[in-house]
Amino acid sequence: KASGRGRFTAFGVHMDVIIRERAEIERDLHTALEKPGQFEVLYQPKYRAQTGDLISVEALVRWYHPTRGWLSPTFFIPIAEETGLIKALGRDVLEEACRAAAKWQIGSVAVNVSPIQWRTPAFASEVRSILETSGLDPHRLELEITETAWMDSTSTCVANIQALRELGVAIALDDFGTGFSTFGRLHDTEVDHIKIDKSFIDGLGKLRGDEAIVQAIVDMAHARGLKTTAEGVQTPEQSAFLTEIGCDELQGFLFSEPVSVGDIDKLLAAGG
Ligand code: C2E
Ligand code: CA
Ligand code: CA
Ligand code: CA
Repeated sequence: KASGRGRFTAFGVHMDVIIRERAEIERDLHTALEKPGQFEVLYQPKYRAQTGDLISVEALVRWYHPTRGWLSPTFFIPIAEETGLIKALGRDVLEEACRAAAKWQIGSVAVNVSPIQWRTPAFASEVRSILETSGLDPHRLELEITETAWMDSTSTCVANIQALRELGVAIALDDFGTGFSTFGRLHDTEVDHIKIDKSFIDGLGKLRGDEAIVQAIVDMAHARGLKTTAEGVQTPEQSAFLTEIGCDELQGFLFSEPVSVGDIDKLLAAGG
């Protein structure tokens, strides 16, 4: 009985700390969204496999917390989603990314969009007005939706995707292969682009049979008229294999980590 109570107490204290920390982060997120300067959008280049040309960059947000320092999006995005703050944060990232890309002579920008945003009825019209304000050609914007979110997409989400594609915005399925969606759903009218999840790229050259899986994803995507991007490319061997099987775009630390907007400006001014 005593040990039972002990366990309960330990568990209770632990939960207490977690709950208090979350409340703190939530409060700080509110503050950070009110007075700008704490969030920074970094951009990770994506290269055309066949030519090595820089063709696009993906926007990835970081939070410089006043006392905790730099925080990873894998830590604060889930909290922003649970509290609904992701709508404001997502809009800020989108505005910033579109404003930056509008100044570039070439290349497109890809922005991660949370399932919460996709389920917001006004999302497509919000994106349209951000495009208008920034002056970015819709054909130079790509929006990413995770395969999992896409699989259980609501009618609102589907309507948003359709409206944005009509505008010329491209839609990419992120983390593809982790959600077990069937290729039967991949009609060429629904999405434009597939991003093969890093876990499969990690498995290349490791006797796990991931070569066959990645090749199958690329072939089937192409049969559906979709382009493919490999994310998390870290070795020259992975890059060579992906290029050989016809994967369209490569992204990963082998080429570049996410970098500041100033670095991208310089890269693009130098012709990629
Ligand atoms: P993601 O969209 O799958 O982004 C890829 C993540 O892998 C990024 O982590 C990127 O820095 C990292 N990465 C890229 N290449 C490599 C590589 O070669 N090796 C390794 N080890 N990692 C690589 P990051 O920036 O920490 O972002 C994590 C996740 O947070 C993203 O995963 C995305 O789901 C989410 N996220 C980031 N920014 C936003 C945003 O603005 N909005 C939303 N809704 N989610 C975001
Ligand atoms: Ca992504
Ligand atoms: Ca991804
Ligand atoms: Ca991922």
